[in-house]
Amino acid sequence: MRRSRFFVDPNSVDLTNKTISIDDPNQIRQILTVLRLRVGDELDILDGKGSIFPCKIESSTAAKGKIRSNDRIICKFEEASAAGGECTVRVTIALPVLRGTRFEWALEKLTELGVAEIVPILLDRSVITYDAEDNLSATKFQRWQSIVREASEQSERALIPNVVSPEKFATFVKRQELVAATKFIGAERADAQPINDAVDSTSGARNICIAIGAEGGFTDEEFALSFTHGFAPISLGKRILRAETAALYAASVLISRLDK
Ligand code: SAM
Repeated sequence: MRRSRFFVDPNSVDLTNKTISIDDPNQIRQILTVLRLRVGDELDILDGKGSIFPCKIESSTAAKGKIRSNDRIICKFEEASAAGGECTVRVTIALPVLRGTRFEWALEKLTELGVAEIVPILLDRSVITYDAEDNLSATKFQRWQSIVREASEQSERALIPNVVSPEKFATFVKRQELVAATKFIGAERADAQPINDAVDSTSGARNICIAIGAEGGFTDEEFALSFTHGFAPISLGKRILRAETAALYAASVLISRLDK
C-alpha cells in the first residue's frame, strides 16, 4: 500500500532526537481521522528542502474524535534520505489570476507536472486585478500554498513549488532577467517560434521561464517590455488555448523535452 506523505516545516525536524513534531491541526486531522493512522503506523515526512524521513508515529495528544489547536503528533525516524521526484530542469510559469476555480486548478496541475515556481502576474487585461501587489488576502494566499503542498504530497515530489505573491508584469520581467537564463512569452504572433523549435535551440537550458497572457492576451506594450528583458515569443500551436491550458501545455512540453 502507498505510504502517506506529509510536508512539514523544516524546524519541526529534531535531528538529535530523530523525532518530527506535527502540530498543524489539518495535518493531524488528515492523519488520524481521514487516514486512520495510529501510534505505531508508518508514514513518510518531507522537510520541503529535499529530504525524506520514513517515520513511525510515536505518540499523539489528540483525544479520539476531537482535535484541538494545541494537539501534536510525534513521529520517530531512523535516518533521512534524499527524496526523488524533482525535475532536472527548473521551470517557472507565470500566468494571470483567472476567474472562478481555473487559477487554483492550474496551480494543482502545474505542481503535478513538476514546475518549480508559479508567478501570478498582474496584466493590463487581467480580469481579476489587485489594487496593489500586496492587496491579496492572506486567506487566499494560504489557500494557494495548501493547494501546491497537497499536490506535491499527492504527486510524490521532494519540493513544494514556490508560489510568489502576485507581481506586476513589469516587476516580473525585470526579476526574471536576473534569474532565468531562457525566457519565453506565449504569443499568437506570426513571428513566434513553435515551442518545440524553441526547445531545440535551447538544448542545455536548465532554468526556463514562460509567461502566459490573460483572457484578452498581452498588450503590445507588455510584449515590447518583455522583449527588452530578454523574452522571446513562442507559439503553442494553431489553436488559441485558454490561459490555464496554455500554461499546462507549455509546462508539459518543456518538462517532457528537457527533464532527463
Ligand atoms: N485573443 C487573446 C490574445 O489576443 O492573445 C487570446 C488569449 S489566450 C486565451 C491566453 C494566453 O494564452 C495568451 O495571451 C498566450 O500567452 C497564451 N496562448 C494561448 N494560445 C496560444 C498559442 N496558440 N500560442 C501561443 N500562446 C498561446
